[in-house]
Amino acid sequence: MHVVIIGGGFAGMASAARLAKLGHAVSLFDAAPALGGALSQVQLDDFIFDSGPSTTLLPAVTRDLFRKSGRPLEREYELVPVPVIAEHRFVDGTSLALTGGSRAGQKVAFEALGEGLGHEWVGYVDTWGEVWERLRKDYLERPWDPTMASPESKKILASRLSLTKRLRSAFTDDRLALVAGHRFTSEGHDLRRVPAWLGTLSYVEQKFGSWTSPQGLGGLGAVMASRLRTRKVEIHTSTPVLDVLVRGGRAVGVRTAAGEVAADAVVCAVDPRRLPALRPLVKRTRSTSLPHLTHLGLLDDGAADPPGELVLHGASPLVLRHGGSAPEGRRVVTVQSRGMVPADVLDEMAARGHDLRDRVIARLDRTPETLTREWGGSPLGVQWRGSGTVRRRLGPDTPVKGLYAAGAHATPGSGLPFTGLSGALVAQAIGPA
Ligand SMILES: Cc1cc2nc3c(=O)[nH]c(=O)nc-3n(C[C@H](O)[C@H](O)[C@H](O)COP(=O)(O)OP(=O)(O)OC[C@H]3O[C@@H](n4cnc5c(N)ncnc54)[C@H](O)[C@@H]3O)c2cc1C
Repeated sequence: MHVVIIGGGFAGMASAARLAKLGHAVSLFDAAPALGGALSQVQLDDFIFDSGPSTTLLPAVTRDLFRKSGRPLEREYELVPVPVIAEHRFVDGTSLALTGGSRAGQKVAFEALGEGLGHEWVGYVDTWGEVWERLRKDYLERPWDPTMASPESKKILASRLSLTKRLRSAFTDDRLALVAGHRFTSEGHDLRRVPAWLGTLSYVEQKFGSWTSPQGLGGLGAVMASRLRTRKVEIHTSTPVLDVLVRGGRAVGVRTAAGEVAADAVVCAVDPRRLPALRPLVKRTRSTSLPHLTHLGLLDDGAADPPGELVLHGASPLVLRHGGSAPEGRRVVTVQSRGMVPADVLDEMAARGHDLRDRVIARLDRTPETLTREWGGSPLGVQWRGSGTVRRRLGPDTPVKGLYAAGAHATPGSGLPFTGLSGALVAQAIGPA
C-alpha cells in the first residue's frame, strides 16, 4: 500500500517509521524545511535551545519505536534520567524538589513540606497504578475497541469526575494540588475540564521517572529523521498539504501546491482543523493555546546542575527549562509564560525570587503566534473540555475510510510518549502491507 503521512513531527515520523517497517511505501509531507515539528532546536549565537520538549516520560515508547524500526536507540542517541523532575517554588516561600522513579523519595520530599503530606501524596499516586495498567492495555497500546476493552476501562474513560474535584478530595494542602495539576495548567488547560483519570501521569512520573538527553531532547528529531531515510521513506519538506482528497467517503490522497498525490491510506499527523475536508470531523474540539517562550543565554553562575524544570508559582506559573547546549562558562534556559507581558518576564522572575537579569547575554522571544505559524498549529493538541474530549478527537481511525489520525490532536493526546504511541496505534490499525 502507498501511505501518505501529513506532518513530520514526532507522531508523523513515528507512524512513518513503523509503517515502512511493516512493508508499506510511505511518503511523508511536511510544511517546514526540516522534520521534527516541536521536537527541534533553535540557535542563537553559540546557544542551542530545545524548541519544545526538553524531557520525556516513558522512554520505553521511544526505545520501542527504534527497536521495531531498526537499530536500538542506545546506538544512536543517549537518554538519561532527570534526578529532579521539577523544583516547585510556592508563593509562601516554601519549595519542593519532585524526584522521579521513587515512591520513597517523593514521600520524603512532600513530608518536608508538612507533617502527613508525604503520606497524602503517595496515597494519591497509589490510586492511579491500577487505572494506568487498565488504560495501558485497552487504550494506549492497542486501538480502542469497546468489544475488547474491560468494563473498568470503559467506566474510567466515561467518568465525568474532573481533576479539580479529585485533587480537592485528595489533599488538605493546596501546594500538593498545584504540583499534581502542574502538567495541565502549564499546558493551558482548565483543571475543571481535565478528566480525573489523567492523574495517572503522576503515577507514571513517580514510577518511571522523567528523561532527557545531555545534548538536549530536540536533537531526537534529527535522529528520527535519519531513521526514516534508512527505512526509505520518501520525504517532502517545505511541502504543505492543502487538503485530503475524499471520494465516495474514502480518503484517496492529498493535495499539495504541486498537485494531487494518490494514496491507499492517509495519516493526518497535524491539527485536522487545518485541512478543510477534515474540519467537520473535529468541529466540537478546540486547539490548546501555546505559551510565550523566552530563550535566554546566560553567564554560568557555577551553581549545581539545575532541575529538569523550575516552576515559580504565582498568579500564572513561570516554567524554566534547561534543555539545549551552551559553550563553556555559559548556560541556556527557556522560560514559558502565559498571560503576562513578555517584556516583564525577567522582572517577574526576580519578583518571585529568581533574578537572572545580570547574567543574560542573549535573548530570543517567540510569541504563541510565531510558534503556531512555525509549527502549523499547536503541538499541545486538543484542549480538554471534559470526558467527551476522548471521543471527539480522532484516531487512530476516523469516520472516513482510509483516513487515520496520529499526533497531539489525536488519541491518546499530546506529549512525546503519547504522540509516539499514536504512531504505534496507527500502524496497528493499518496493519502489515
Ligand atoms: C513549548 C512546548 C514544550 C513542550 N514540552 C514537552 C516536554 O517537555 N515533554 C513532552 O513529552 N512533550 C512536550 N511538549 C509536547 C510535545 O512537543 C508535542 O505533543 C509533540 O511534539 C507533538 O508532536 P506532533 O507530531 O503531534 O506535532 P508537531 O510537533 O506539532 O508536528 C507537526 C508537524 O506537521 C507539520 N505541518 C503542519 N501543518 C502541515 C500541513 N498542512 N502539511 C504538511 N505538514 C504540516 C509541521 O511543520 C510540523 O513539523 C511540548 C510542547 C510545547 C509546545
